[in-house]
Amino acid sequence: MDSLSRFRLFSFSSSSLIIVLFLFYRSVVGQSLPFPASDIWAKDSELHGFRGILRDEAVAMIKQLGKISDSDGYLERTFLSPASKIATKLIISWMEDAGLQTWVDPIGNIHGRILAANSSADTLLLGSHMDTVIDAGMYDGPLGIISAISALKVLNVTGELQSLRRHVEIIAFSDEEGVRFQSTFLGSAVIAGVLPLKSLNMTDKSGLTVGDVLRYNYFDPTEEALLELKYDPEKIWGYIEVHIEQGPVLEHLGQSVGVVEGIAGQSRLKVTVKGTQGHAGTVPMHMRQDPMAASAELIVLLENLCRNPEKFMSWSDSDESSLAGLVCTVGEISCWPSASNVIPGQVVFTVDVRVMNNKAREAVLYQLSDQIYQICDRRTVGCTIDNNHNADAVMCDSDLSLQLKNAAHSGLNILSSDSGEITDEIPKLMSGAGHDAMAIAHLTKVAMLFVRCRGGVSHSPVEYVLDNDVWAAGITILEFLRKM
Ligand SMILES: [Zn+2]
Repeated sequence: MDSLSRFRLFSFSSSSLIIVLFLFYRSVVGQSLPFPASDIWAKDSELHGFRGILRDEAVAMIKQLGKISDSDGYLERTFLSPASKIATKLIISWMEDAGLQTWVDPIGNIHGRILAANSSADTLLLGSHMDTVIDAGMYDGPLGIISAISALKVLNVTGELQSLRRHVEIIAFSDEEGVRFQSTFLGSAVIAGVLPLKSLNMTDKSGLTVGDVLRYNYFDPTEEALLELKYDPEKIWGYIEVHIEQGPVLEHLGQSVGVVEGIAGQSRLKVTVKGTQGHAGTVPMHMRQDPMAASAELIVLLENLCRNPEKFMSWSDSDESSLAGLVCTVGEISCWPSASNVIPGQVVFTVDVRVMNNKAREAVLYQLSDQIYQICDRRTVGCTIDNNHNADAVMCDSDLSLQLKNAAHSGLNILSSDSGEITDEIPKLMSGAGHDAMAIAHLTKVAMLFVRCRGGVSHSPVEYVLDNDVWAAGITILEFLRKM
């Protein structure tokens, strides 16, 4: 056995001993998470890049949070729901365990802050969302909250928390997915001061509005009251968000983390196609105005246009790259009266268009509308297009992203020091999904770290992140905090 093998055997034995001691401790004391910082863990941390806190504890916290649901049998945790209130208590206890001062604001965002010795220092915000979609995975959102808590807990254990150069505040945002009210970013938009007042009138399934729910929560959401919750951009240095990639690129590259260059802008359309309702057995084919057949053609058109935009639009060579990442989706369709023996009278479907370049998105929408009207005219059906939502793309800050990338590089090299592997360049990625960083970009510069997820799958209970990738996210934030 060479000396390296002996060292590895020793490391394995010492970690196993620690785990056995820990399990013994838990069984005797009956202590649930969070774990107390003990000498055993501290020694383990020195040897192994704080594996105990940044990986094992963090994964256990994600799993614990993943069990807190408003529904039986699957994960669903929506804005200010009963489960979100239970989750809030748990997240607060973890933040306090990490040495943070905590509070919950009237929108339900959870804050955990540590002040720097220099009271005039600006503040780094870290965060992600605590709400979920229906039948969700447990990493989407909580990974960003928990990797930040874990990194600060390490600094608390090592005594570095009091010597941070900036104030640091974690925010667990109360609503990003928008499941309850179909309105995304309620939590982060209030902090950034960009929540449209009309959002307060949106209703949930029980008929309650956002405003009603906030008033039940002892907060009257007047324009002035909401503005008081807005953070002062002068006092904020920047915002960092860790999030699962929700796509397959990092897995394909064999990399655990990547830095996000920007978040795609998006538009949502509602297309209504009106034809002539009739009997499926008596109206000859050439005499029909069938909105279902027309919609089928329109949907195939959309797919063709977004797969091969150059065939539909004339772009100079320099413009062609601006169409990179263009994706278009019809995700919802309904028809009236929806019966097997009736030619429908009306079909309504949604269109979701995303691309990094805002001008390219406008050009795609213009071209799509033009083609839709031509097809509808040819088929003698009536078509209307409602543009219901537009959000411009957000570019991440290049300096902040570089610091995050350097932190990832140095963190991954700590993790790979045992294996002797040198970490390659940290990949850069685009985000096709919206994130709280989009809203916070109205307040301050933002940067994001994406973490590999299995098969690129998210918004599903099979969503999965390797324990070691959770560790990679935590150590990246730790290195960032140490060097900022
Ligand atoms: Zn998310």
